[in-house]
Amino acid sequence: MRSYLDHNATSPLRPEARAAMIAALDAGGNASSVHREGQLARSVVETARAQVAALVGASADMVTFTSGGTEANALALKGAGVERLVISAIEHPSVIETARAAGAEVHVAPVTAEGVLDLDRLDRVLARDKRRCLVSVMMANNETGIVQPLAQVVELARQHQALVHTDAVQGAGKTPIAWPILGVDMMSLSGHKLGAAQGVGALVARDGLTLTPLIEGGGQEKKRRAGTENICGIAGFGAAADAARVRDEAARLTVLRDRFEAGLVDLAPDAVIFGAGLERLANTSCFAVPGLTAQLLVIALDLDGVAVSSGSACSSGKVGRSHVLQAMGVAQDLAAGAIRVSLGWSTREVDIERALAALKTVIERSARRAA
Ligand code: PLP
Repeated sequence: MRSYLDHNATSPLRPEARAAMIAALDAGGNASSVHREGQLARSVVETARAQVAALVGASADMVTFTSGGTEANALALKGAGVERLVISAIEHPSVIETARAAGAEVHVAPVTAEGVLDLDRLDRVLARDKRRCLVSVMMANNETGIVQPLAQVVELARQHQALVHTDAVQGAGKTPIAWPILGVDMMSLSGHKLGAAQGVGALVARDGLTLTPLIEGGGQEKKRRAGTENICGIAGFGAAADAARVRDEAARLTVLRDRFEAGLVDLAPDAVIFGAGLERLANTSCFAVPGLTAQLLVIALDLDGVAVSSGSACSSGKVGRSHVLQAMGVAQDLAAGAIRVSLGWSTREVDIERALAALKTVIERSARRAA
C-alpha cells in the first residue's frame, strides 16, 4: 500500500473521469463531422464544456479547451496582444517563461515575506506606464498553497485599465470560484490537477475579449484553438470538474492537513510551515525541518511508501532552488529542506498517519546521528 500525497503535481485519475474517458474512446467520432457519430462526439465535448464552466461559475461559451494549464497560460499571455505584462514573482514557470517570450515588456511584482503579492508595488508598476497591459497573478501558489489577493488585484487593474488573467490551475476544485464575482478577464485550468488525465486544460475568457490563437488551422474552439479535439481527455476533464464541484472536499482536507501539521510540529518543534496562519489551499502543506534536506526526506518517505515532493522540484525532477521561497526571502539552507505535502480526493486519514510515522523514523534517525 502506498500513500500518494502529491496531488499538486498530479491528482490520481478519478473513477468518474476514467469512466467518461473509456465511454468517449469507445464511442469514437470526430466532433466536426455531421453524421450521428460526429454529433455524439460533439455532445461529449459540449457536456464537458458545461461541466468545466460550472466548476468556476462561468458560462460554457467562455471555455476554450487546450492541451493543459501551460497552453492556457500561453494563450492568455500571448493571445491578448498587450504591450506590457505584469506578473507576480511566484508564478508558475509556464507564466514566467511565456511572459519572457511574449515580446511585451515584462514587470515582475514582488511578494511579501509571507508569500502574498505586494499590492502597493503592483499599484506603482501599473501607474508608471499607460500602455495596454495584462496583469497575471495566480489564484493560489502551487508550492505553498498561499492564496493571492485577486479581488484587490482586479480592483487595481481596473483603476489602471489593465486586463487580468489568473492561473487557477491549483485553485480550481480546491476552493470555490465564482467567475462573475471574481471579475477577471481570463482564467487558466488544468485537468490533471483535478483528477482528470494529463494533457487537457482550458482557458476561460470573458465575452468579447479578442484573443489571437497560438495554433491556427481548422475552425475548432471558435477559431481560438485549431486541431481536432482531444475528446477522450475533454470527457474526463468534464467528469472530474463535475465530481470536484459536487463533492467539495475543502472541509475534509483541512482537517487532514491540520492533523498532519500538528503531528509534524509534535515530531519537530522547530519545523517551519510556510504560510501557516495565512489563507492557504486546504490541501497543501509546505514545510522544512532545519537540518534535514528535501532530498533526504523525499527519498526516505518514498522508501516508506509515501509520495511527496520537494518544495523546489522542477519539471526535470531535480531539486533546484525554489523561486517561490526565494521571492519570499526564505534563507537558502531552510529552503533547501522544503517539502510539499499535497492532499486530494483519494487521501484518507491512514495516509496522514503513514506520512507522520515515516517522518518520525527519519527525524529520530537523524537525531541519533547528530548525537
Ligand atoms: N500553473 C500552475 C500553478 C501549475 O501548478 C501547473 C502545473 O504544475 C501549471 C500551471 C501547468 O499545468 P499543465 O501541467 O497542465 O501544463
